[in-house]
Amino acid sequence: MFKQKRKTMKVISSIGRLQQVIKQIKKKNLSIGFVPTMGALHNGHGSLINASCKENDITVVSIFVNPLQFGPKEDLKQYPRPFKSDLAFCRKLGVDILFHPSAEQMYPESFSTSVEVKGLSDVLEGKFRPGHFRGVATVVAKLFCMIMPDKAYFGQKDAQQAIIIERMTKDLAMPIKIKVLPIIREPDGLAMSSRNIYLSKSQRQNSVVLYKALTLARQLINSGQRDAVKVISRMKQLIKTVDEAKIDYITVVEPYSLKPVSKITNGCLICLAVRFGSTRLIDNIVVGDSWKLTERFKK
Ligand code: AMP
Repeated sequence: MFKQKRKTMKVISSIGRLQQVIKQIKKKNLSIGFVPTMGALHNGHGSLINASCKENDITVVSIFVNPLQFGPKEDLKQYPRPFKSDLAFCRKLGVDILFHPSAEQMYPESFSTSVEVKGLSDVLEGKFRPGHFRGVATVVAKLFCMIMPDKAYFGQKDAQQAIIIERMTKDLAMPIKIKVLPIIREPDGLAMSSRNIYLSKSQRQNSVVLYKALTLARQLINSGQRDAVKVISRMKQLIKTVDEAKIDYITVVEPYSLKPVSKITNGCLICLAVRFGSTRLIDNIVVGDSWKLTERFKK
């Protein structure tokens, strides 16, 4: 899928070394694009990396399974860490620097700082995953301080995360442009995710109902329905036809405040979280122009 490039990739695990290398890059006035990830890379990450390679002189990718953003009962230990294939993936895409620090490097015992984006972090995913976005904002802020990128790339897949990071960079006047790129999907519509491997065969087959529900919402809105309650109720009806699917939430929100809306307008975000067994999947669409981006995955 992606163009092959030949150049050497620096693999760095020490913060000090990373900062030295970044200093050299800055001296040469080269632009830096940054893609933070937790690894187990797939084409969703690939699209962010490709965009960064196109738009910047240097692309830095971080792979760090950030303990701060996992709850005590979540999958921190189990989270996939296929480092060798991630290395090959990054090389193939032309990444310049792969940064993969240890948890001890990132959070030594004395570590006492956290970054909290209030309000936005407490709703939707935040309600189900208390402390999650504090962990995300803290690690991203620390990575931003080390890498000082011109642009940083995030996926619409984690729309709330992207909105929180945009808020954080604005609030703290970080001179970094946040780019949010469309969701990359499997051919049947399931949003790509490192966690999809947890799904059993039947759960994987049934999980396509999420995209079907979002597509139904789009059809209803296109045919004039603007009542959020009615759209959500039709989506719930459809998802409930799948026994294994347990809905955490389906909601339509205003994209900057993340407040629920009753009347659907362009730019609103329709987002959902649904559990299949112990695997929690999230997905969303944006009402309006961005829909074009999901059209190509329609079956
Ligand atoms: P993660 O490794 O899951 O923390 O994700 C790293 C970045 O990749 C985040 O900005 C995600 O939103 C983005 N991402 C993950 N899955 C997808 C996808 N299917 N399409 C686009 N971006 C994605």
